Amino acid sequence: MQPTNPAQFDDAMAGRMPEPDEIRDGIWSIPLPMSQPGNPFSLSYAVQGSDGSVHLIDTGYDTERNWQLLVAGLARFGLSIDDVASVFVTHLHPDHLGMAERLRAASGARLGMLRREQLALSALAAHGIDTTDARFGSWGVPEDRWPELRVALGPGLVAEAAPAVDRAYEPRELIDVPGRSIEALATPGHTAGSASLVDAEAGLVFTGDTVLPRIFSGLGLGDAGETNPIADYLASLRTLEAYDELEVAPGHQYRFRGLAERTAVLAEHHLSRSRAAAAVLRDEPDATIWQVASRLRWTTGWQNLRDFYLFSALGQTQLHVEFGRSADFPG
Ligand SMILES: [Zn+2]
Repeated sequence: MQPTNPAQFDDAMAGRMPEPDEIRDGIWSIPLPMSQPGNPFSLSYAVQGSDGSVHLIDTGYDTERNWQLLVAGLARFGLSIDDVASVFVTHLHPDHLGMAERLRAASGARLGMLRREQLALSALAAHGIDTTDARFGSWGVPEDRWPELRVALGPGLVAEAAPAVDRAYEPRELIDVPGRSIEALATPGHTAGSASLVDAEAGLVFTGDTVLPRIFSGLGLGDAGETNPIADYLASLRTLEAYDELEVAPGHQYRFRGLAERTAVLAEHHLSRSRAAAAVLRDEPDATIWQVASRLRWTTGWQNLRDFYLFSALGQTQLHVEFGRSADFPG
């Protein structure tokens, strides 16, 4: 893997905000801060259409500071919020969907996403994520750990209200950017309707959080669909590896080349965890999700997982256990 903007790479590695930059003629990257350990900013991309209109891919968290940074970032390239005609969000998390509603109010920008993600957004707004005691009980979580899991969804995993979606795309459709051919690929896994965008002419693939250069994105972080997010994600990685010749413009961190190399690492990361979960269950067929999770290796250490991170680890473990039992599991 080769970072394509050394300054952006250096900043990302040092945990600093990089400068906005021009990636191609009429395509810019604007970093917007967020407070998540090890992940200090998201990347919004601005794409200019042949009629001068501006189209954003992801918008960053909805904060006053980010709004000012977006205004300033656009101005730096001679663009204005008033020119923003559309926003395409790769997925429903608030560091991507974030300012879409504010942009609609400011310039009438139309909000677009894959139809599958729109469904997930509506479902989440209607019933949220399952943080019931029944779920914790089924995972075998000791009761003294339930309270921290009930308040676990603090970091704003999902939007509180579903914004109106103006344009729901089907996979492989071109998004509405005059004069450009930008294709929306369905790359589910991180969320059920996560999209990646391919601009073959510009030589770019926008991967949202489906592929990040150094972070292993969590899977199934949204509405629970009918399919297993790990199986979905592995299929998405196979879809993306065909675009290895393109430069990757991810939702966080830095741009790079070497997509197929990265998708191979990501696939192995998740498969090895599924194998580890399956191995625990071979030895202890009655192990609960809690017990399986406690035997897996976690970056910060199992003992240190608290609150949201504990909830997330248990949710991921459940997915791996289910995937390990499915026909899709290669073993
Ligand atoms: Zn993100």
